[in-house]
Amino acid sequence: MTAHLIGYEVACNGLSPEADCPDSAAVRPRFTSRTVHQVRADGRADGWTTTPTASGRLLDHCPTCTDTRKETR
Ligand SMILES: [Zn+2]
Repeated sequence: MTAHLIGYEVACNGLSPEADCPDSAAVRPRFTSRTVHQVRADGRADGWTTTPTASGRLLDHCPTCTDTRKETR
């Protein structure tokens, strides 16, 4: 696999399919993060979470949305 000049951006998918992220948050790109897996690992260190969907997609949630989802559960 060749090196990428631009890393992946992982953006928050929001509180629900109907509600966008209030912060329009995205994991800050880091110098060492070259793959989406690494970016997600960075995000987890900052409080980001991922939620698998029935279709096999991963939804990403920023710390703000993760907290809000916990509170409303
Ligand atoms: Zn969010």
